[in-house]
Order: sequence, then structure tokens, then C-alpha cells
Amino acid sequence: MPNLILVADDNPDNILLLKRVLRRTGLELEILEANSGRDTIRLAIDRLPELILLDMKMPDMDGYQTAAALRGDETTENIPIVAVTAQAMLGDREKAIEAGCSEYVTKPIDAALLTETVKRYLAKK
Ligand SMILES: [Mg+2]
Repeated sequence: MPNLILVADDNPDNILLLKRVLRRTGLELEILEANSGRDTIRLAIDRLPELILLDMKMPDMDGYQTAAALRGDETTENIPIVAVTAQAMLGDREKAIEAGCSEYVTKPIDAALLTETVKRYLAKK
């Protein structure tokens, strides 16, 4: 059975890049895509992915609101969330963790770091 992973980003180019990195991990993955916070929540509840890669900057609900909503729903409260963000400002990691993210990686994506992070979370189950 492939591992189910949800990639959420409002920029299609970022989704393509993340998918490319994920395909190179060597893991057997089914990749779901969302381009908004609402889509992310809907798909997470419907499909229960094992890991969510979440862009923090999205137009309708940002990643912080989305993470908080996922944590507040008993269906999705335990799904690990990796925040993916260009906002590498002091305090952003804490803000993401506080919103319910399990981990924080910055853009531009470091393929090796992302691969290691994804493998670590999928192995934890
Ligand atoms: Mg964005």
C-alpha cells in the first residue's frame, strides 16, 4: 500500500516541485493536492492522509488557520503537519508549531532535508 500524503500550496509551481522531490524519495506514495486551506481540510477529513505538507501563505485560510482547524477536528487532530514556508523570520517556527504544525521547513525547498523529514514521519506510524 502506498503512503498517502497531502501537498497543500496555492502556487501550482510549488506543488510540481514538491511532487518532483517526493517522487525521488523512492517511497511508494499516493500524492493528494490541495490549493487552499479549505481544500486541505476537506481532503484531510475525506482521505485521512498520513502526512500533510502545508504552505503557510495561502489566500483564503492561511497555513496557520488551516493547521489550527485540522488540530481542532478529532478526525484530523493527529495527522502530522510539516509547515513549508518562505517566511524564515525569527519566531515563524514557533508560530507554526503553536498553530499545530509538527515541523517546519523553509522555501526554497532543500530536497535532501524534505526527503529526510518525510521519511521520518512516515516511518513513525
Ligand atoms: Mg503560498
